[in-house]
Amino acid sequence: MKFTTTLTKVCTNCGIEKEVSEKYFARDKRSKYGFKSTCKECNKIYRKQHYQDHKKDIREKQNKYLHQYYQEHREKILEYKKQHYLIKKGESNLF
Ligand SMILES: [Zn+2]
Repeated sequence: MKFTTTLTKVCTNCGIEKEVSEKYFARDKRSKYGFKSTCKECNKIYRKQHYQDHKKDIREKQNKYLHQYYQEHREKILEYKKQHYLIKKGESNLF
């Protein structure tokens, strides 16, 4: 038997009634229906806006994180680069 009743939900941000499915709402375990109260479309806009507003902060954080990541995985990265380089070198020798 198929579950045919379509559950709809009004997005708290844009006020548009949308089908409660992963197509329109992002999953959220903490919320009542298991989906976020705002639709995906609004989340996308919000994230974009949030990014615009915090672009500098985000970039700084990312740089910090990357720097930290590099520090922590330097050996692995260097090893990977070395191997990658050797493979590439090996390939080019074939021709
Ligand atoms: Zn919306």
